[in-house]
Amino acid sequence: MRVEEFDVVIVGAGLSGLRAGLELSKKWNVAIVSKVYPIRSHSGAAQGGINAALGNLEEGKDDTPKAHAFDTIKGSDYLADQDVVMFMCEEASKIVVEFESMGAPFSRLDSGLIAQRPFGGAGFPRTCYAGDRTGHALLHTLNEQSVRHGLTFFDEYFLIDLLVVDDKIAGIISLDIRKGELVSFRSLYVILASGGFGRIFKHSTNAIINTGDGVGAAFRAGVPMQDLEFVQFHPTTLHGTNILITEGARGEGGYLFNTERERFMTKTAPKAMELAPRDIVARTIQTEIIEGRGFENAFVHLDLTHLGSERIKERLPGIREISIHFAGVDPIEEPMPVQPGQHYSMGGIGTKFGGDYGETDLLGLYIIGECSCLSVHGANRLGGNSLLETAVFGRYIGRRLLEKGLPKKSSTSVIEREENKLIEKIESLLKRWNENSGKKPIVIKNEMGETMNKNVGVYRNQNDLEKAISTLKKLQKEFKNVHINTDDRRFNYGLIRTLELRNMFDIAEATAVASAWRKESRGAHYRIDYPNRNDNNYLVHTMIYRVKNKLEIKTKPVKLGIFEVKERKY
Ligand SMILES: Cc1cc2nc3c(=O)[nH]c(=O)nc-3n(C[C@H](O)[C@H](O)[C@H](O)COP(=O)(O)OP(=O)(O)OC[C@H]3O[C@@H](n4cnc5c(N)ncnc54)[C@H](O)[C@@H]3O)c2cc1C
Repeated sequence: MRVEEFDVVIVGAGLSGLRAGLELSKKWNVAIVSKVYPIRSHSGAAQGGINAALGNLEEGKDDTPKAHAFDTIKGSDYLADQDVVMFMCEEASKIVVEFESMGAPFSRLDSGLIAQRPFGGAGFPRTCYAGDRTGHALLHTLNEQSVRHGLTFFDEYFLIDLLVVDDKIAGIISLDIRKGELVSFRSLYVILASGGFGRIFKHSTNAIINTGDGVGAAFRAGVPMQDLEFVQFHPTTLHGTNILITEGARGEGGYLFNTERERFMTKTAPKAMELAPRDIVARTIQTEIIEGRGFENAFVHLDLTHLGSERIKERLPGIREISIHFAGVDPIEEPMPVQPGQHYSMGGIGTKFGGDYGETDLLGLYIIGECSCLSVHGANRLGGNSLLETAVFGRYIGRRLLEKGLPKKSSTSVIEREENKLIEKIESLLKRWNENSGKKPIVIKNEMGETMNKNVGVYRNQNDLEKAISTLKKLQKEFKNVHINTDDRRFNYGLIRTLELRNMFDIAEATAVASAWRKESRGAHYRIDYPNRNDNNYLVHTMIYRVKNKLEIKTKPVKLGIFEVKERKY
């Protein structure tokens, strides 16, 4: 086994990991470990934009960070922690200007200022964008900066488990995917920036790599998962493939129609219409489909034809290409077929109550980006706030740790002892997977995804959730006997998919268990059997722990006090 030593190890080279790395490497020795090359991180898929109350448009001139924070908290169905949301929204303009000064190619207004478009649940047009490829533009910008500042990358290294010594973090154990050898990264801090886990669902806008490996590793090390029941289903994913059709398409003026050529959003959000928050639009579409006003009982139409060819080509070129290639529909001429699909995870690794933003209960372990639940999105995220979160908290964590300084290192002999124990455990797991005679990981994974889609979807009820829990338990038993048919570890993607599935199971089970526990409807979590929000009993975060092989739920208070908790109307 190879050993590498750094002050800080960051797992993840998406926007959050890169932004933290840029800050920390000013003073410390930092390793960025990523299972794919940095520019293949999923941040690159982001389309619509990043929010900041710049007020660059005439209609947005009265926008403020406080208005942004209010929209975010109302959008979250009041489950977001209000102090952290306020911090994020106050940092937003600085972060966008920082991206601009690093060279991010934002779309521009005629005045030369950064262009902004309306997005769902926002009181003003505040989403800054680079056409419909904003994530690509921002990820390449940060990657260029990382190359310029000489950050140390370990590309195609897979985080397997966290190394914990003397009750504090001491590094990670990883697999060098190319060489097939285990590598221990010893460090004084670990930052998990390992992205989302949409692939626990079969139909998702997420890349295959979004499997929640950081969440799984942290959970095995005793760190709880938080608010997992809140899964965002994006209203407009392309029918069939579930590739995202950005909210920017509706921000540019797109309409939703059912088979009766009715703009059905009048029914649930008569003022905001297509630009209501995602949870509301997704449910309204799903209802149209369930009640028989969907095309082929599966999708509705997103119509851009009235926007004209020039605007579509300039503002939504990627969407047009996706629609032509994957649905055979040119949105300049015809409406696009869209349906809701899993898109984003509001929940993630839990934070320490009263700690720094991103601090966990495990000393020295910090979390940022989509793998984390810093609780800026509560029960429902507003579009454009996630790219913002990655950069704001990447920079924040970097600065905060530099202020704190490096902690004391445990003795090398104790680290070696714990490292050897963990390696032995991992080796015996990998060996067992070769010797087993059960199903292949992909077969089990597909069944898991189907169960999640069917029973833990846009509309939920106790019966379905219990079915999901029992199916997941059955699959978990099968997983114990999972079979990988070669023991050559070099570029062994059977092995990688199995390691990923191990993480996905904990997350899927926790999502179903937390959804069954929350007997109310709030944000993206809608219970047909409990259709109302219940602040008396459920205005709390869920924290999920594994105790003696069973999942247990505790609760954590929501931080309120800036905005009054009210009913949501759009
Ligand atoms: C199609 C799509 C469009 C979106 N559009 C927008 C938008 O317009 N605006 C917005 O605000 N949000 C958008 N989002 C959400 C947003 O893009 C993501 O939440 C955000 O980019 C996540 O960034 P991240 O840094 O947390 O993780 P990611 O960018 O996903 O990076 C995760 C990193 O972790 C690494 N990693 C994971 N597991 C391991 C492991 N086991 N070992 C080593 N490394 C590992 C990966 O290699 C990767 O480098 C969109 C999401 C999708 C799916």
